[in-house]
Amino acid sequence: MVVLDPAHGGADAGALLGAGDPEKNFIMTLAIRLHALLNARGIHSILTRDGDTTLDNNTRATIANSTHAAACVLLHATSTGNGVHMYTSSLPAAGPQDARRAFLPWQTAQASYEMESLRLESDMNSALTRQHIPVLLARTSIMPLDSMACPAVVVEIAPFDVKTPLTDLTYQEQIIEALATALQAWRSDWRMQP
Ligand SMILES: [Zn+2]
Repeated sequence: MVVLDPAHGGADAGALLGAGDPEKNFIMTLAIRLHALLNARGIHSILTRDGDTTLDNNTRATIANSTHAAACVLLHATSTGNGVHMYTSSLPAAGPQDARRAFLPWQTAQASYEMESLRLESDMNSALTRQHIPVLLARTSIMPLDSMACPAVVVEIAPFDVKTPLTDLTYQEQIIEALATALQAWRSDWRMQP
């Protein structure tokens, strides 16, 4: 099961993208299309919000954690930068996986999933690079990412270059295709894990 988390929503519009389109709407449309493509390929996925609703970070993390997600993709968009920016948590990695059987501290649950999150990010990086989309990898400490007890990556979509804005449908299609392909690869990886 994959959890797709379209950021913002409701009272929180997110960034103002080109043409005055708020991030919350752009990313919702993209998330719905990715959701449909994943389900068509036999990868069960759910959305943390299915409309223009306000959703706090604890609720987003609770959805990922209570469904024991195999992967969580937190979707954002920005009008600055180039290509796709991906972030994993910058929390210091926690000890061995056995520690997971104990209760995880809510604020730093992601620390126990750092290796898996980096592998998921690597699968997405490969798929995007194959589509010739520039990728920037970074670490950050934000909610709800840090509270997610599952492999989780923030995917922030920027325009490709000055000639290819976020609204370019072919560009959007390439990103959705790459993310779906990466999650398929991830599912195979995931099944092979001990
Ligand atoms: Zn955002």
